[in-house]
Amino acid sequence: MDCIFCKIAKKEIPAEIVYENDAAAAFLDVNPRSPGHTMVVPKEHCATILELPAHCSEGFIEAIKETARRLQRALEPDGFTMGINHGRVSGQVVDHLHFHIMPRFEGDGGGSIHSVVNNSPEESLGDIAEKIRRLDV
Ligand code: 5GP
Ligand code: ZN
Repeated sequence: MDCIFCKIAKKEIPAEIVYENDAAAAFLDVNPRSPGHTMVVPKEHCATILELPAHCSEGFIEAIKETARRLQRALEPDGFTMGINHGRVSGQVVDHLHFHIMPRFEGDGGGSIHSVVNNSPEESLGDIAEKIRRLDV
């Protein structure tokens, strides 16, 4: 498969890898939106978190936490914005799951996660919650 993030995780093409464990690798985004903008990817290919194999989940989360810890110590940001563009509609360009960690600094001009969409539901919260809950039965 011709996947650029698989190739980075396997070190077949260069990237600034800043942390890795058995399940995941963290490397600097080539087009950073903030100093230290890092992506954490599972080493096993999957497109989204819904396909992340169970045996990779713990290591993937551990890598996210450890990378954030290291970014905090190295760059001393005032906070982070973290998240996943999941699917084309949300802005996912590379079809290999990647978790963005963006260090945030006072006065950097960025917004919160709430600023990425403003599409208030027409249905009530109760109706939406019921659709989700009834999948259990
Ligand atoms: P997405 O929009 O899919 O959530 O984010 C993809 C990210 O991957 C972008 O921020 C882009 O800058 C980054 N990216 C794409 N190709 C490469 C690459 O070859 N190396 C690195 N380090 N980052 C990449
Ligand atoms: Zn891949």
